[in-house]
Amino acid sequence: TVGWIQELVDLVGMEKLLLDFDQREKLSKDYYWYSPVLEPLLRDKRADAIVIPETEEQVPLVLGFAYRHGIPITTRGSGTGNYGQSVPLEGGIVLDLSRLNTVQEVTNEYARVQAGVRLGALEKLLREQNKELRIYPSTFMKASVGGFVCGGSGGIGSITWGNLWDGNVLEAIVYTMEETPRRLVISGSDLVAYIHNYGTNGILTELKIPISTKVSWKQTVVQFDDFEAAFQFSHAVAMDDSIRKRLVTPVEWPIPSFFKPIVKHLEPGASACLLETEDGTEQALAAHATAVGGRIGYVIPSDLYHTTIGLSDFTWNHTTLWALKTDPTLTYLQAGFHPVDFPKQISQIKAEFGDEVLLHLEFMRSAGIIVPAALPIIRYTTNERLYEIITFFLSIGVGINDPHTWRLEMGGRGQMDAMLAAKRANDPHSLLNPGKLQIPAVQETIKE
Ligand code: FAD
Repeated sequence: TVGWIQELVDLVGMEKLLLDFDQREKLSKDYYWYSPVLEPLLRDKRADAIVIPETEEQVPLVLGFAYRHGIPITTRGSGTGNYGQSVPLEGGIVLDLSRLNTVQEVTNEYARVQAGVRLGALEKLLREQNKELRIYPSTFMKASVGGFVCGGSGGIGSITWGNLWDGNVLEAIVYTMEETPRRLVISGSDLVAYIHNYGTNGILTELKIPISTKVSWKQTVVQFDDFEAAFQFSHAVAMDDSIRKRLVTPVEWPIPSFFKPIVKHLEPGASACLLETEDGTEQALAAHATAVGGRIGYVIPSDLYHTTIGLSDFTWNHTTLWALKTDPTLTYLQAGFHPVDFPKQISQIKAEFGDEVLLHLEFMRSAGIIVPAALPIIRYTTNERLYEIITFFLSIGVGINDPHTWRLEMGGRGQMDAMLAAKRANDPHSLLNPGKLQIPAVQETIKE
């Protein structure tokens, strides 16, 4: 055991501390095993202790203690991140914020919540009040607001509201990692240092996020003979501002065959588009479908929204989950296609790789422009081959956010300069989630 444990017990009390091996093991893991590259590298990493604060005030108490002892702190929301974001590479303390779960204020414009509030619970509460979240990940039932802001990017709703960087975080309360942690109130453009930063430069205890008015969402699957028709339809719907929507997800056959709970409702052999659109948009969807030979298929009426397994359970990174369940040799990439030239990029990829790469796009509005983001499914053979595929994508102008690394510099999509500046100011001894964001100059100074 490590020397500081007894002092930690005295500081926070046993009811806020987990020391048992199995509990430490469980709460030191996220969905890193999604990646065949990360799985062997992270499987043996675990914290020395898990601290579960119950009040905001306990957070700086633990941070100050850890700072004085030089103990790394890795924050955990619900641990649904899929690149080892919340895996403590150097042991130390995992700070589990799941009990900071109070919704503090809801107005017509925003919700102010503690970081551990689950997005699914918040969405339910909002919908009861005729409101709803703007954006949430497909893991919303489990994922926390803080974890989404610090480890996610976008999801359901991003086709209308963009991703986390598009004004979807209004304010954050941030604690620094110092002898006496400072409580910062961050808003406006300063938030870019904290969004998708894996908790490397501060602990967020509270967030203010914008919300919108509740919509009756109908879920529809439209099917096509080939993927080209599926993405043409999806693009047309994505661009059509008369259709209010939350989800536009084209997937290439055989990806729909992986969706076991709904496969009986789907046409064998057909590429598909999974949609959430407002009640009353049926005719507009049918017109877009007919234009490219598509057929309206499985429909889930709006009164069943969020009461049964929904189409969003097969989109974003859930698509990858169903692929993995079907065939563990499948993996994925995160790619950004060109907003106009994407059909050409897609045909270049299919010509080069055939069924080694299966396409899954997510249309979203990024900085106001409709773009096809992609989470293609890749048949994994070796790391070398995976990086050959990545190199090809890059060579034809398709951007990659590598999901097979925990390093923010390589896989992240935040603004590095702002993140590094906040890291220097807030975490001078590099104790927050070490290994995820490196500052060479500062680390060398410490070693000297
Ligand atoms: P965690 O995994 O616990 O944490 C994520 C990161 O943030 C970690 O680095 C952690 O240290 C840090 N962190 C957590 N809370 C705080 C805090 N309060 N202060 C400072 N740092 C903190 N992501 C998307 O963006 N969109 C998707 O649609 C999506 N779909 C997914 C589907 C599947 C099947 C899986 C496995 C993952 C998916 N993800 C997606 C990734 C992930 O589920 C989401 O980003 C989710 O919002 C993370 O929330 P969490 O509470 O589980 O965070």
